Amino acid sequence: MNLMINVATLASVSSAFYAILFILLSIFWWQNKDIDGIIWWCAFPLFRLVYSVIGSDSVNYEDQFFIYVGNLAAVLSDTFLLIGCLKFIGQPINWKLIGGYLILFVLICCYQYSINAELPERTKLVVVFDLIPIISSIMVLFRLPNTKYALEKYFTIFWVSMQIAVFSFWILINFEFNNRDYGIYILFSLTFIYVSHIFTTVGLIILTIARRRSQLREESRDHKLLEEELEKTLRKAQDANDEKTKFLTNMSHELRTPLNAIIGFSESLKLSYYGELNPKQREYVDNIHGGGELLLKLITDLLDLSSIEEGKMDILLEEVNLNLLIEKTLPLLREIVGAESDRLKIHNEISDSKKSCAVYIDQIRTKQILINFVSNAVKYGNPDSDVILTISDHDEHYFRVSVKDSGRGIAPEQYENIFKPFNRAGNEKSNIEGIGVGLSIARKLIHEMQGNIDFISTVGEGSEFWIDIPKSKQHQLPIS
Ligand code: ADP
Repeated sequence: MNLMINVATLASVSSAFYAILFILLSIFWWQNKDIDGIIWWCAFPLFRLVYSVIGSDSVNYEDQFFIYVGNLAAVLSDTFLLIGCLKFIGQPINWKLIGGYLILFVLICCYQYSINAELPERTKLVVVFDLIPIISSIMVLFRLPNTKYALEKYFTIFWVSMQIAVFSFWILINFEFNNRDYGIYILFSLTFIYVSHIFTTVGLIILTIARRRSQLREESRDHKLLEEELEKTLRKAQDANDEKTKFLTNMSHELRTPLNAIIGFSESLKLSYYGELNPKQREYVDNIHGGGELLLKLITDLLDLSSIEEGKMDILLEEVNLNLLIEKTLPLLREIVGAESDRLKIHNEISDSKKSCAVYIDQIRTKQILINFVSNAVKYGNPDSDVILTISDHDEHYFRVSVKDSGRGIAPEQYENIFKPFNRAGNEKSNIEGIGVGLSIARKLIHEMQGNIDFISTVGEGSEFWIDIPKSKQHQLPIS
């Protein structure tokens, strides 16, 4: 039998074969990067490939150096397979031991190279060093708990038995080296190694798939638990919210009755129905009346907010002439601006327009929004500068009504909070009255009316809030 040709041919075929295994495992690693250890498994066929490439010509080598490189590649490949398995099952790795074992192998190879050792000695060295991954695998086998790692256990048992079979074979041919036609045995053992490596690779792929599947199963179980947890929390939050809304509604109703009495009686005192008041009494009565009005406004806002949250806010949409509506609202707005009511400037860009100013809105709620805008402009604006109310034809769908002040402005980091209920956007500690619900109510109301709300602001220069009110499409009301 021509050993040289047969071994060389077998090694070349196996090079291609290991290249395929390498590509296969690499794809698996690429797709399952989060599973530990697979990258080491890729190194296993890669070093076998090196071994095979060298082996395909090694029997012709004059220089034995490559034979040692090939042997090192073989030992490395088994070591990497072992490291991969340990990582895969989360076992600790003794890197010093592995490093020492490899260095020892390299040193002995160097020694054998220097003394020009014969084939049987070289083979013995590889056989002995290949024994170590086998022993380690058996140790791993005993550490694997049955329940969780059944598949890993079967794989390790299978791999170890394959290796032991190959190993025994090599020992056998090594002892009988000189008096047998060993070529056939080497061929046999090589074939056996290659077959065992196919099975090993398939085993590794099966392990990866099984691991991925169990990961997915765990993830979906976690997902379900999380979903249930979320649902429970949501239900609790909804219940709490319902309770809060109920509480607010009841409390607001209960508070309004005595408050109306306070406001009513203090008003009749103010109007001197029951005799003239002295200055001190007048001052106190004014305070009582003002405080009562403020409290009533806050309570009304709270009540509005809870009705909106409950979905009970009545919105009466009707066709209205915007100019008329603004005109009717102006006295109220001037009252809010107070003594210097001429600070409120009106820019009505649609009053002379020949077009219709018909809008489809709830009049009272629109007034409420404008009152909120103007009272904010007064509260947060500069007391000496104008508050400008502008009415304009924004586009084919909306009229725009805006209120502009030259006040403190709003810091950009507060923009996202402006329309959130109970948020005072940095004014929590200021002595300006308010509970931070006006704008959130305004937004909900204008959305109910199919309109929009927004603002622009510059710190230190002022703010402009506006609503876009939907134009009425069906009818054309006369211009006021
Ligand atoms: P409130 O005025 O009762 O606090 P709002 O909902 O009307 O509640 O306003 C929310 C917050 O938005 C205010 O606390 C204030 O910080 C800010 N804000 C509203 N309008 C203006 C404005 N014109 N200029 C500056 N800040 C404003």
